[in-house]
Amino acid sequence: MGTVKRILARKAQRAVLTTTPHTLVYDAIAVIAEHGVGALVVTEEDEVVGIVTERDYLREVVLKDRSSRATPVETIMSRPVVTVDPNETIDRCMELMTSHRFRHLPVLEDGELVGVISIGDCVKQQVREHTAEIHFLHDYINGGPTVVRERAAERASQRG
Ligand code: AMP
Repeated sequence: MGTVKRILARKAQRAVLTTTPHTLVYDAIAVIAEHGVGALVVTEEDEVVGIVTERDYLREVVLKDRSSRATPVETIMSRPVVTVDPNETIDRCMELMTSHRFRHLPVLEDGELVGVISIGDCVKQQVREHTAEIHFLHDYINGGPTVVRERAAERASQRG
């Protein structure tokens, strides 16, 4: 069964993007835009204290007519943060994100922030694993990859 570890191993964005509670929302959103991500983990002295996403900006800044240059991240971030362990299954992560209606999960290993996964990462990994399983079952039903290759060669030689 797929776990968070597999997603982290494949991710291009290895370093976890973080911000602090006192950073201005404008600067945090600039980092989000620059790196093409949807969320930043908020840390203070290496502790995860919140999470801020594009959605918080829309709901808490735009709709409330706040100024992003005068509002600190702590005003709009969510806390407490729901986190997962690298050994958590992808199924469980998807369940968590669906039931809480959010799309990001910071990953903590022994209390240390080691990654962030999104609902998109989970869907991609599930599709990869399901595709591999379908190929395996297909080969199995057809007598294994060797038999499949032999039968294909046989058909090709019959066609001349
Ligand atoms: P998202 O769908 O990830 O943009 O997040 C929707 C809302 O949930 C925003 O208010 C986020 O700050 C909050 N949120 C996102 N991820 C988490 C998380 N792992 N734990 C707690 N709140 C979160």
